[in-house]
Amino acid sequence: MILDLDPNLSDREVEALSERLKKMKFTPVRQAGNRIALVQGVGKQVRKEAFLHLMGVKKVSNLEQKYKLASRLFHPEPTVIECRGKKLGGGHFFAIAGPCSIESKEQIDASAKAAREGGAVALRGGAFKPRTSPYEFQGMGEEGLKLLRDAGAAEGLLTVSEVMEPAQVELAARYVDILQVGARNMQNFSLLKELGKVKNPILLKRGFSATYQDLLMAAEYILAHGNPNVILCERGIRTFETYTRNTLDLNAVCALRELTHLPIVVDPSHGTGLRSFVGPMSLAAVAAGADGLIIEIHPQPDRSLSDAQQTISFEAFAKIMRDAGLIRQALDSKSVEL
Ligand code: PEP
Ligand code: MN
Repeated sequence: MILDLDPNLSDREVEALSERLKKMKFTPVRQAGNRIALVQGVGKQVRKEAFLHLMGVKKVSNLEQKYKLASRLFHPEPTVIECRGKKLGGGHFFAIAGPCSIESKEQIDASAKAAREGGAVALRGGAFKPRTSPYEFQGMGEEGLKLLRDAGAAEGLLTVSEVMEPAQVELAARYVDILQVGARNMQNFSLLKELGKVKNPILLKRGFSATYQDLLMAAEYILAHGNPNVILCERGIRTFETYTRNTLDLNAVCALRELTHLPIVVDPSHGTGLRSFVGPMSLAAVAAGADGLIIEIHPQPDRSLSDAQQTISFEAFAKIMRDAGLIRQALDSKSVEL
């Protein structure tokens, strides 16, 4: 809901109106030009007429956007997520690196060291794997989460791992800092609601054929259920092209930047499916303004138990991070506004 106010209303009068709206259990957010955007609570139905009698309100309109808490209208400043002393988003660039799946202590420990040396802030590794085939490696489960936690702690890294169902959330939240929702579960609404109840930041991956609005509505579920710490992830979408595993949609970075305040990371590993594309597309994502990258690395990429073709070596990761740093430096000095 948008309330257009009398342009002659003073700041004090707008403030008084905001207080009144808060007492009515709304979250008012002041906009430029004497406007107030309102967020209503989950399941709360409101009629426009309810606001028209309030002092200073000239016009009441419904918002075009269906998402509210995720919208820039309600939160003009970029969100910076704080997690165990690390800042993510809003100018704090962050890289997440690690294997597709946690396979052994040696593998995850070596990956953690390489992730830290390359400049990553977080270590990724799947313990519950959403595999297309039931005959493929399904992940190490809780044992894997313990290995991930220890490897991350040894290198001072945050950890990221996927949860696939509500019953895994409480367990994973005990071991992992950032909980990932995979592309296949972006619209698993019972999972999203459960993730609204925890404090961990959520890395929400875009579904294969989800529009930006679908992605933002999925984020809205988590936000509306109480967790404000959502990171959006562009990981490629399904198109008619079969040369690459997915088509990495870098438009998403620009579009989401306009639509939302939430941090946006790009996954060039799943977005391309091809090792040799990961470097160039990482740099393109940084140039497009992504807040972060998530990249699959492995001590022996060809031996990865999942996603081997898109997994890169430690050396390749370190080079991408150096190059990404140069691009960020270049962008800092010249921001193009059209
Ligand atoms: C992953 O991160 O390993 C993964 C399964 O990603 P996605 O859900 O994007 O396919
Ligand atoms: Mn993977």
